Order: sequence, then structure tokens, then C-alpha cells
Amino acid sequence: MNTPTSSSSTTTAAPLPRIAVLATGGTIAGAAADATNTAGYQAGVVGVDQLLAAVPALSTVARIAPEQIASVDSKDMAMPLWTTLAQRINALVAADDIDGVVVTHGTDTLEESAYLLHLTIKSDKPVVLTAAMRPASALSADGPLNLLNAVTVAANPGARGQGVLVAFNNKIHSARDVVKTSTYAVDAFVSPEIGALGWVQDGRVEFQRGVVRPHTFATEFAIGADWPQVEVVLSYAGVSRLAVDALVSAGVRGIVVAGTGNGSIHASLVQPLADAAAQGVAVVRSSRVGSGHVMRNGAAADDALGFVSAGSLNPYKARVLLMLALAAGVAGPVALQKTFDTY
Ligand code: ASP
Repeated sequence: MNTPTSSSSTTTAAPLPRIAVLATGGTIAGAAADATNTAGYQAGVVGVDQLLAAVPALSTVARIAPEQIASVDSKDMAMPLWTTLAQRINALVAADDIDGVVVTHGTDTLEESAYLLHLTIKSDKPVVLTAAMRPASALSADGPLNLLNAVTVAANPGARGQGVLVAFNNKIHSARDVVKTSTYAVDAFVSPEIGALGWVQDGRVEFQRGVVRPHTFATEFAIGADWPQVEVVLSYAGVSRLAVDALVSAGVRGIVVAGTGNGSIHASLVQPLADAAAQGVAVVRSSRVGSGHVMRNGAAADDALGFVSAGSLNPYKARVLLMLALAAGVAGPVALQKTFDTY
């Protein structure tokens, strides 16, 4: 009688993707004395090994290469740490044995760090940021699932070439568009103008649209230690020119105005800003509204005053782009407008 024989040839399954997980701190690494505490806690105190240990399912998705880059509350994010982070990611994505990178980050400045990396990482390999609104010690902490989903996205071939992504609360956002919109909700992140790129759930990743503007390997920007000083000023009822005057006399290279409505600027700020522009300070109009584009005002206003429009970038993302553009030697309102129209 013939008995079925098992084949002696072994088919070796392809190894799981190797994903570097870089921890920088934030609420995802936060801890409180009590599991019911979701607001009073210390951010950035749980190490990367503990974050990973809380998510055993990661081992079915990827081979993880963990690194602790920093342990900061991201409200305190600063440019030297951006330089360190971007340089480390650039080194990792250049290595053959790394397929993608996940960064755990605080939510407060995540949208700024993500856009910075979107403009300066020189690779099409996936780079995915994630975070949490509840500390690691909380009941129903959102960090572990966000981390699993971020690694799942970074391990997915569809994430390649999409620029830097943010995986949060089952959504996948482009770093260019995503913003934090809630002080406490677990669905704190949205892409207000055009929505998320796709979603990730239970191991499944689906992209529903792509990223059109140039990013990562296709930009003219490089990460370095040179961070031209660019500050943000706000326009509001009754605003005085004090802040603009102080910034100009301190020698800032650029001012982003968080204007009202369509990036409109209070009359008390217009002349001081036009004088600043005439002296070579880059002045960019953005909006404090939270969604929508800032339209250029044309010859009568922006051209005559030397102002640049930020388009759909919020003031904090506009500041990131302006710093990188000035560091790259882009000078004058015409060239800067082209930069804002491109990225
Ligand atoms: N302050 C915290 C941080 O940005 C908030 C958070 O992560 O949600 O690090």
C-alpha cells in the first residue's frame, strides 16, 4: 500500500520585514501612579523595550530592531533632536537589512516632526510615526494598538514611496496633512483638508489615495545642524506690533503669521511685517483657522508687501518648511512662494 510521504524538500518562508522602532518619549511612553489617570502623568518615562513587551503580536508582523533615541515630552521638542532623529533614520533606511522605520513620539508636536522627516528622509522605505493619547499605564491605553498598527503599516509594501506616514487610531495619514485636533480624544489626529490616506486594522492595510506633492528622496532639503531662526506670530483682535518688532530686532530670518481667516493680518501688523520683508526677513502668511487654503492676494497685497502664502500648511508646518528652505539657500518672496507651492 502506498502511504503518503511528506516531501523532504523544505520551503523556507521569506523572513518577516525588519523594522527599526525608534522611541523618543511622549505619552505613549508615559506613566501615572494609577490606571484610572489619563491626564496627570509623566510623559516619556517608559523605555522602548517595555513598549515592545506590551505588544507580543509584533513578533508575527516584523523583526524589530529597537532604539531609544530620546525620552522627551514632545512639547519640548527642539531642533537638535530633530537633527539627531533625521540623521539616524537616514542611516537606518540606507542599510540593506532595514525595511522600514517606526518612530514613537508625543502627540503635541508630532505633526511638526512628521513633516520635517517627510521633507528630509532620503529613501522610499516606509517611515511611520505613531503616538498615544493615554499613558502606557492607563486603562484602555491606546499606545500598544497604535504601535502594532504602525509596525504593520511600515511592514506593508504599499507604504513604500508614500513619504512619511502617521498611523494613529486605525487611520494612516500623510505627514504633510495630519494635525492634532483634540486635547484628550483618542481620535485626536485628522487630515482636515483631504482626509486620511487609508486605514490599518487587524493586520490589514489599505491605501485609498496617494501623496502627490514631492517628499523624502524627491526634495531639495537636507538635514543639518543649521536651523535658521523662524518664529510664529499670531494675528487677533487688538494685537499690537510688539512681538513683530521684538523678533525683527532680534534678527530672525523668518516670521510665519498665523493669520485670521484666509491668512489675513491685522492692520497693526501689516506695516511692521512689510518693513521686515523689505529688510530681507521672510514673511509667510498662514491661517489660525485649522483648515482651508490661504490664497495669494496678488499684486495689490502679497506682491507689493513681499509676503508669501503658506497654502494649506498650518503655521507650525509652514515654519518647518520655511526653516528648511532658508537653510537650503532659497531666498526672496518669489522663490519662497515657489517652494510653498511645490511642497
Ligand atoms: N505632552 C505629550 C507629548 O507630546 C502629549 C502626548 O504625547 O500625547 O509628549
